[in-house]
Amino acid sequence: MIDTPCILTDHLRNPGLLSLDGYQKAGGFAALSKAVKSLGRAGVLDQIRISGLRGRGGSVFPSSQRWSAVARAPCDEKFILMNGEEGGPGGFKDRMLLDGTPFLILEGVILSGFAVGAGYGFCLIRRDFGEAISSFKLAAKALREAGLLGQDILGSGYSFDISVVTGAGMFSAGEETALLESLEGRRGNPRPTPATRFEHGFRGKPTLLASAETFANIPFIVKNGGEWFSQIGLSTNPGTRLFSVSGHIAKPGVYEAPLGTPISRLLEMAGGAREGEEIVAVLPGGVVSGFIPKEKFSVGLDQEALLKEGSNLGLGAVIVFSNRCCFVNVAQCLAAFLEQESCGHCTPCREGTKKLHEILSDIGSLRRKSGESRRGQCREVQAPRPFELLEPLLESIAAASACGFGRSAGLAVSSAMRLFPEEFAAHFQRQECPKRVCWG
Ligand code: SF4
Repeated sequence: MIDTPCILTDHLRNPGLLSLDGYQKAGGFAALSKAVKSLGRAGVLDQIRISGLRGRGGSVFPSSQRWSAVARAPCDEKFILMNGEEGGPGGFKDRMLLDGTPFLILEGVILSGFAVGAGYGFCLIRRDFGEAISSFKLAAKALREAGLLGQDILGSGYSFDISVVTGAGMFSAGEETALLESLEGRRGNPRPTPATRFEHGFRGKPTLLASAETFANIPFIVKNGGEWFSQIGLSTNPGTRLFSVSGHIAKPGVYEAPLGTPISRLLEMAGGAREGEEIVAVLPGGVVSGFIPKEKFSVGLDQEALLKEGSNLGLGAVIVFSNRCCFVNVAQCLAAFLEQESCGHCTPCREGTKKLHEILSDIGSLRRKSGESRRGQCREVQAPRPFELLEPLLESIAAASACGFGRSAGLAVSSAMRLFPEEFAAHFQRQECPKRVCWG
């Protein structure tokens, strides 16, 4: 393993990355030149395969399988789709790239288009990322004027152009097939995923879809070689990854670390606990991942390792929780978010997240009813047991929802119930909040 480089954050330290001249001074477009002049399409695909790169969005799917599937598809019209629809609590690492280095992402998009034989690409950026949308439009114009986008790129005979489009701005609309629906002018509801999802994308044509961070790694892989990249991080999941760290942490922000870095190390990088607090749990993949308790902070930030702990790497949004948190209150907030962000397309997710929010919000009214009955010497209110109500509901949402959002929606609440049963029991059975967050 080579000494840990910070691939993307080191690049972001270069000055002037918002101008083509500044980006080229930082080594920009050396990879594209190498690709069209010497490597060729097969060479680029080969370097991506050797690198072992996996997607930096939620799926962690091996990138070479996507790139190769689209490259092999027997169709004259192919597309690239860059997913810049980042959102949800704690997710802000793609925004740093979109705002800070549009030319790097665009170089990755053009290189990928060249490798798979696509003639057109879309950079879909969340509608409230106004600065990034403007930067991408200006960057595309500068690239066309410089002969790096449009007809006959760098005299290679390869032609490729892009459009910058605005996304729906909903968390569930960031799901891959929902993005395709938005792009085709329909409501951003996820599609039932076909087995050949890469070959049937935009307008039913082969479409290579990846996140901003995934595309940002491509120029480095082509320039430095897949072998170089494969030696960083884990052999099963190489490279570094950006993590947006937020919540009860001394220095919230975006940090880059090799895949497999222990959670404890990332928390150290972010300054550790705030004064007078102790970190007791994290959500390593944002609101659609499961809680990892402090006893498991030696677990590496890697999809396989986190799946074994009932969580996932998700979008790299690491949300930190201290001993001051009431996890029933956290579960209520998560349920409110899930209900609001469910696109409503399928019943288990739409009605299940609504019911989940209702049950968790009900605790407040249970407390009031119980207090009233004691004062009036009425019969004791029978408080429901949390596991009886919530577990079957969470299981049915996970089992019957149509897309990844619904299937992972209950992970955080179910893991909170498993890890902090005494807090749930206190609220549901005795109408008490041990942390005095819900009631004083
Ligand atoms: S699981 Fe939820 S977000 Fe996904 S399609 Fe169904 S309602 Fe929409």
